Amino acid sequence: MTGSDEAAAAIVRLGRRLAAAGLVVGSGGNISLRCGADRILVTPSGSALDELAPADLVALDLDGSVRDADAGGLRPSSEAHMHLAAHRARPDTPVVVHVHPPYANLLVALGRPIRLITLDHAYYVRRIALVPFVQSGSEELGAAAASRLGEADVVVLAHHGCLVVAPDVGAAYERVANLEAAATATYRALLLGDQATVCPPEYLACIQAREAAAAGDVKET
Ligand SMILES: [Zn+2]
Repeated sequence: MTGSDEAAAAIVRLGRRLAAAGLVVGSGGNISLRCGADRILVTPSGSALDELAPADLVALDLDGSVRDADAGGLRPSSEAHMHLAAHRARPDTPVVVHVHPPYANLLVALGRPIRLITLDHAYYVRRIALVPFVQSGSEELGAAAASRLGEADVVVLAHHGCLVVAPDVGAAYERVANLEAAATATYRALLLGDQATVCPPEYLACIQAREAAAAGDVKET
């Protein structure tokens, strides 16, 4: 199996997982994975994430040009601009996911902040950046979303969905799933009249201090 074969298989598995968990609606979602210094594999335009096949994936250079030998006649996702901008902005996170999770989408459209309430929400999502409405599929949306990736791995796009970056497909799934779980919990909290509850900030401070200490240990060895 080549690196591209493994990347394609990982995208197919992640697509099925996201769809099975109800984190996408219809064909509303796309995934890309960096598989080389200047190359990504991205899902094709109009594809449903639970019906992907490895041969459907489209190889692009980071400047957006399709690698003809690999293209197979399929066009890249209509949100390829956003994927390319995210990969250029964050070379440390090879997995990029864009989906339309229903509760996250609703709260953002209503102007209600998504609150990280449980330890899992805080651990996997960490921070959420917001991009006001920008036309879908445009280079402007890609630039606006990627510009927020310096401060967060999870960006929500008003009236549209989210952009999530991660170091591997497992972390990408957890981030998307916990974003939607946080949005669902926030929605239910609002129904109960709760306007402010969040995960205790000292939890995240403790986790970040542990991670910084662990990173220091690795550098010293
Ligand atoms: Zn979209």
